[in-house]
Amino acid sequence: MLDSFGREIRYLRLSITDRCNLRCRYCMPDEGVPPTVHDELLRYEELLRVAETAVSLGINRFKVTGGEPLVRRGCADFIRHLKALSGVRQVTLTTNGLLLPPLLDELCTAGLDGVNISLDTLDNAQYQRLTRRTHTADEVLRAVRLCAARLPTKINAVLLPETADQLIPLAELTQTLPVDVRFIERMPLGTTQTGQTTSADIALNRLRARWPQLKPISEPRGNGPARYFRAPGMQSCLGLIDAVSHGFCDRCNRLRLTSTGLLKPCLCYEQGVELRSLLRGGADDDALRNAMREAILQKPAAHCFQQRENITEHKSMNQIGG
Ligand code: SAM
Ligand code: SF4
Repeated sequence: MLDSFGREIRYLRLSITDRCNLRCRYCMPDEGVPPTVHDELLRYEELLRVAETAVSLGINRFKVTGGEPLVRRGCADFIRHLKALSGVRQVTLTTNGLLLPPLLDELCTAGLDGVNISLDTLDNAQYQRLTRRTHTADEVLRAVRLCAARLPTKINAVLLPETADQLIPLAELTQTLPVDVRFIERMPLGTTQTGQTTSADIALNRLRARWPQLKPISEPRGNGPARYFRAPGMQSCLGLIDAVSHGFCDRCNRLRLTSTGLLKPCLCYEQGVELRSLLRGGADDDALRNAMREAILQKPAAHCFQQRENITEHKSMNQIGG
């Protein structure tokens, strides 16, 4: 379906939990976030009903996210059911990777099409400082290797001033692994609104200094707004997501569903269409479809990350569903 600015919406990010086994500083506030009570979370059957309705509106690609989606029991089974829905073309997962290795078999059998693994630094001590937990970057890298042997895999790293020295080491993974490495500008969201980002352009200049033959990729790659680049000797691509500086809103193709059932037209604003009460109040398929259509029509022309005073979304990323 087209939104009011003529953009075709065909991608839905489904958050299945706001819980997480990490506490990344740019995602969650220092004091943590009270977890949602279980009954407020959409049940898997409810998520599947939303997905089915989304398909009827032309949305055929889904990303399962959170919080950390793999902390919710039954995630792989949910993915199996989601992938089996008629009209669903692609189901991918975003994860911090820590719980991935023992679930890989089940996820592959479920039909998962790809995995994004978040890893902002290869330095174990820095990883622990950033995530406020005792897991290590080595554990994540092990998950990346296991996953890349089975499924299309990408690494996502947030561009933080404190991890500037990790840009090149992370990017060099493209020389040894068939894994795209994508750098995303830190968005000023939720209670971590005042944090700084390194701009994607600065990162690109540094990548060009390391790989003078780095060239943009012209063919489309992935569902999202990343610009991709490649240099001789790379097995895979580098990606840059200038979520804040350039804005990719004119190409935005997505909606987000929070784990409590708010269908969000845009990350930046708190506005959304509440689906949980419809799902639990006996709404028929037409009523649900109309509510979802309304969310598509509410999509604003652009985010306002560069005018921070206009941001109305104050939830943290784990609650929104990053
Ligand atoms: N826990 C999973 C993970 O870390 O991949 C999935 C949820 S997490 C909220 C999804 C993505 O959002 C991660 O790649 C994370 O780095 C990113 N993220 C969180 N807060 C962000 C922020 N303020 N700006 C940019 N990306 C952010
Ligand atoms: Fe958890 Fe992902 Fe947020 Fe880190 S970015 S705290 S792993 S939800």
